[in-house]
Amino acid sequence: MTSERQRVGVMGGTFDPIHHGHLVAASEVAARFDLDEVVFVPTGQPSFKQGQDVSPAEHRYLMTVIATASNPRFTTSRVDIDRPGLTYTVDTLRDLRAQRPDADLFFITGADAIEQIATWKNAPELWEMAHFVAVTRPGHVLSVVGLPSEHVSLLEIPALSISSTDCRARARAGDPVWYLVPDGVVQYITKYRLYRESAVKVAS
Ligand code: ATP
Ligand code: MG
Repeated sequence: MTSERQRVGVMGGTFDPIHHGHLVAASEVAARFDLDEVVFVPTGQPSFKQGQDVSPAEHRYLMTVIATASNPRFTTSRVDIDRPGLTYTVDTLRDLRAQRPDADLFFITGADAIEQIATWKNAPELWEMAHFVAVTRPGHVLSVVGLPSEHVSLLEIPALSISSTDCRARARAGDPVWYLVPDGVVQYITKYRLYRESAVKVAS
């Protein structure tokens, strides 16, 4: 047994679907911050996407498993999809800390999301639970105003102008999503007709 603390990245997202922008961001943070593992955490019902049409959690979870399977340092967690109700980052971090009391957590998030987090009322508690790594994202200027610099690092990553919104629109229109998402995810989307009018249901 080693007494060294594990360094664990936490990449939360709706992942509807997961794409190469997510994977490159996680890989880059893992390299720069010397992480032992990155846990991908698909959200349950995202609090900020209420009223929007989000695919069933089980589809999003399975696509995340497929996308992360080939990387020995990437894993996928069910903590958010198994917890009833809306997903809040504070609960995600609390659950992961309980599962891994010997780990230092690094919460990885995009430029668009970090600015929202800074405005949340439980933000002071969040900064104590993990170190936050804000990654640049094409189309979003990262403003550091109001972010506590001792708890948040900014990291520029190779720009991949990919969004799940665009992948869904392409799938709906019958346009290719090859090379925007991992091959297994392309095949999963096709198999279950995701983002089409007649998507195949999964048990949830
Ligand atoms: P949607 O278009 O449905 O909002 P998305 O592409 O933004 O989906 P999310 O699941 O919402 O994907 O994103 C999860 C996290 O990954 C967020 O913190 C987001 O900022 C970050 N992220 C998403 N796409 C990229 C990208 N291309 N480069 C870097 N970070 C990204
Ligand atoms: Mg988004």
